[in-house]
Amino acid sequence: MTLSILFIPITTFFCSFQAIFWHKFSTNNDPHHKFCDEEWCGYLKAKKNNTNYDHTPHGLPRTVMNEIKPVFDSMCSKQSLMRVVNGSTQNANEAFHSLIWTMSPKHKASSEVTFNIACCLAVSIFNDGYYKLGKTKEKD
Ligand SMILES: [Zn+2]
Repeated sequence: MTLSILFIPITTFFCSFQAIFWHKFSTNNDPHHKFCDEEWCGYLKAKKNNTNYDHTPHGLPRTVMNEIKPVFDSMCSKQSLMRVVNGSTQNANEAFHSLIWTMSPKHKASSEVTFNIACCLAVSIFNDGYYKLGKTKEKD
């Protein structure tokens, strides 16, 4: 049994987070869509189709965006993102451990068998979700 961990290049991850901020930061008079993807960005689609695009419905006020920027820069810096990409994530480990300790609580005495079952179930749930457990039961 192994944990499946998504591998994403750091530059792709970084650009995706930058796209979120700058897309929301954009106004009709000051568009910033260099990190956006034509697949989802209405501005780039409109530009490609030579049509008009209105930023007003999804834009956030600049004062709000200016307050968010330092926190966003800190959380989405390449240094911060390095901790959660290419299999070096702590979040995945913490989520996995949380599943195990939910089924085999640390504060209650449990046998090795109980702990092993909790580990097996956690791997199954972590990799395939709860749906897989239903499929496993159907085979019995
Ligand atoms: Zn955009």
